[in-house]
Amino acid sequence: VKIFRDCASFLEFTKSQTETIGFVPTMGALHEGHISLMTRAKQENKILIVSIFVNPTQFLPNEDLSKYPRREEADIKICELAGIDALFLPNIDEMYNQDDPKVCAPNIRGFILEGFQRPGHYDGVLTIVLKLLMLTNATNAYFGQKDAQQLILIEEMVRRFYLPVKIVPCPTARDDDGLALSSRNIYLSAEQKIEALKLSKSLFCGAKLIANGLRNCKHIKEQMLKELLPLSVDYLEITDYELNIKDELVLSNTLLLVAARVGSVRLIDNLWI
Ligand code: AMP
Repeated sequence: VKIFRDCASFLEFTKSQTETIGFVPTMGALHEGHISLMTRAKQENKILIVSIFVNPTQFLPNEDLSKYPRREEADIKICELAGIDALFLPNIDEMYNQDDPKVCAPNIRGFILEGFQRPGHYDGVLTIVLKLLMLTNATNAYFGQKDAQQLILIEEMVRRFYLPVKIVPCPTARDDDGLALSSRNIYLSAEQKIEALKLSKSLFCGAKLIANGLRNCKHIKEQMLKELLPLSVDYLEITDYELNIKDELVLSNTLLLVAARVGSVRLIDNLWI
């Protein structure tokens, strides 16, 4: 694996490629979810590039930036095993200057759900993703449906800024018990892991009600909420694929989204129906 830590040499590498480039941006502490994105990207491209960067601008002042798991050595091993060609591991000073221009998330869709709980989060996400997409010269970039709102906003940015890259959505990797894989899961104790299953159980309950013919979002949410209690729920919402909140849902255009806290660990999950 070629490892790059500075933008200039990385850009030289990416610009000199003549084959398709698949790109998987991550914040590290890699798990099977990340690996599933890498596997897909490797199948569909000649060159596979992964980035690991814990992006400070997407963390709010009260959030867990300094505590976010960092496991560089293990991550490099995982990237080697996944057969990636290049790993971009920049530090903060490489990615940001003072008084940099930045991307603003859309006023509405960037400030509901996650964006309401974490105002400014998506400005940070879109800014770093734009920089990384341009730096990697990616043909195809792979993002998890696990972060549904993030994926939708990135797709919208790519569309509206006419960026020359294809965004490829990838399904959420889960533990056998249903828990969505997340770098933050390592903070959960064994007991908390069981509590955390309430998120996926609530989503699966919603999916079952929908499979049984229920279309009224208020009624579905009432049932889903019962599965989540007594967790502290940040939001539980039903939207379409463009994040419009719905009263009545439509099949093949519905997202069930949940964010809840297990102890001090904030978890999100969703299902695309
Ligand atoms: P992160 O390192 O958490 O920023 O995630 C990097 C990429 O991996 C994002 O596109 C995430 O949506 C994706 N990802 C994270 N967890 C999962 C998962 N359990 N299944 C699939 N993709 C995931």
